[in-house]
Parts: sequence; structure tokens; C-alpha cells
Amino acid sequence: MKYEVRSIVIKAPEDQGERKVSCLLDCLYRTQEILLKSTKIKLGWIKAHVGYSGNEAADVLAKKATQEGIPTIIPAPRNHIKSLLQKESIIRSQKEWDNGETGRSVHNVLPKVKTIPTPCQRPEIIFVTGHGPFPTYLKRFSIRSRDSCGWGNLGNPLHYATSCLFTTSYHLKKPPADLEPLWWKRVMNNNNSRAKIN
Ligand SMILES: [Zn+2]
Repeated sequence: MKYEVRSIVIKAPEDQGERKVSCLLDCLYRTQEILLKSTKIKLGWIKAHVGYSGNEAADVLAKKATQEGIPTIIPAPRNHIKSLLQKESIIRSQKEWDNGETGRSVHNVLPKVKTIPTPCQRPEIIFVTGHGPFPTYLKRFSIRSRDSCGWGNLGNPLHYATSCLFTTSYHLKKPPADLEPLWWKRVMNNNNSRAKIN
């Protein structure tokens, strides 16, 4: 069955622009959450007014909103609202990124949420995420039975980059355990270290 997302009715407070924008954003996030939870939704164009039941229902609701809804006027130019939405959206994404549970090794190296892509080479991504040909990663997916490098040490990126006997020519200086987060940041911000990783 096909449905069309046609309109969203927003109940905004009778108030200044900024709070209305924040309400609008809440509404967008809620809609996004609903859509993300539904794995069977596909987006596509359909013909209007030819009897698709979802489309007809949306038409009825849209008409109802124009007749019975509360008109919402945000007293600000469109580009101002857009920039408020973007700011608010970055603040929210930053909170999610800071409080998340996954991708922590990447969070350590790239703590700031940005709207422009960070230039990263494939080997660097593999190195920082640990998602690559490392025993620790392969064991997670049962491709290998053990997560050691062959000399009995934990075969993760840090080990190969600093102490494994198989990779001595590439070694970087090993950090003390408490300075590990700092080590990752330094390595990824240093062109010589990055060249070794690549
Ligand atoms: Zn080793």
C-alpha cells in the first residue's frame, strides 16, 4: 500500500519567531523518528486525485487543516528561519554525538558536528574506526576465532601502529594508557603520522 506524506499540522505557540521555529523543528524530528522506525516505507511519486486511498485521506486532512487549523505566521524572512533551523539542528546533533554510545573512537578524533565533510582517506577511516582487517574486528563477526595478532597481543589498530612485531617499520610512539585519547587526536592531526597510516 502506498501513502503520501502531504502535510504536517503544527501547533505553534502564539509567540515570537524563535520559539515557533523550535516547535517546527520538534515536529520535523518527530516525523523523522516515525519514518526511521518504519522500515517498509519507500519514497516515490504517485499521481494525485486518481483514487489512491492514502492520497485521498491526505487530501481530506489537508483541506481540514486549511479550514480549521490555526494559521501560523512566523514573522521573519525565510533565510533567517533557515539559519535558525540549521543552528538548532547542529546543536541537537552535537548533543546526540556527544551522548551517543557508538562511534566513540571517531568521536574522540572528530568531536565537532559540522555540515561540511571532513577530508579523510579510506585507510585513516579504517584505522580510527577499527573497522578493517584487524583480528579484533574480524572476531566480532566470527570471521576469525581469536582476536590476537599472532604474538598473543590484542590485534587492534593501536597495537599494530605502536608495538606489534609484524609492523615495526610503521611504528608510532606508544602512548601511556591514560593518554590514549590524546594520542589519537595528535596522530590524526599530524601529517607525518597520517602518511604512515596511509
Ligand atoms: Zn602483535
